[in-house]
Amino acid sequence: MSMMFGKVKTCNPAECNLVILGVMGCGKSALTVKFLTKRFITEYDPNLEDVYSSEEVVDQQPVTLRVMDTCEQEGPVNSERYLSWANVFLVVYSIDNMESFNGCQLYLQTLASHNKTFRPQTPIILLGNKKDMDRYRQVRQSDGEALASHFGCVFFEVSACQDFHSVQQVFHEAVRRARKG
Ligand code: GDP
Ligand code: MG
Repeated sequence: MSMMFGKVKTCNPAECNLVILGVMGCGKSALTVKFLTKRFITEYDPNLEDVYSSEEVVDQQPVTLRVMDTCEQEGPVNSERYLSWANVFLVVYSIDNMESFNGCQLYLQTLASHNKTFRPQTPIILLGNKKDMDRYRQVRQSDGEALASHFGCVFFEVSACQDFHSVQQVFHEAVRRARKG
């Protein structure tokens, strides 16, 4: 019944590849670890890039969610390895760091130009992390929202060191977006 043959990339509804992007230090690994273990852990190799797999249930439907926690010192220069692999992108910045906000725009531009030539479109979620650092906030929530709407993506603010459910919600929303893909 399905039309899933041929060369068009499709997201098998039972599988979802998520790529998490953003400048060093914005909290990609902390978010990944939080999602996978429900804990905020700070001892891990900051130069490690890896793919983690988790069996999830989103809207009563099981899904194997693979998370690629990227690590790029130079920004999106060697992006081929994840561009075609991904069913959904999570672009992260840290609300207490304007440089990370500027840095994530480079990622959004790279993904936007990828999406121009690629069908189906790969959905993007923009995520402001370290919401607990509100006292040191450098990026207004409205700036995050404006950037997200400019690139046609959904927007959330969370904290990798606070409640698990809001972090989980972001990853589950990513699965929903990928399913719609
Ligand atoms: P990555 O380079 O994007 O993977 O960033 P990491 O996940 O390694 O995080 C960089 C630093 O920010 C580490 O010291 C983390 O403990 C810290 N960090 C990550 N997320 C949060 C957060 O939500 N709140 C606070 N206060 N610190 C965070
Ligand atoms: Mg990391």
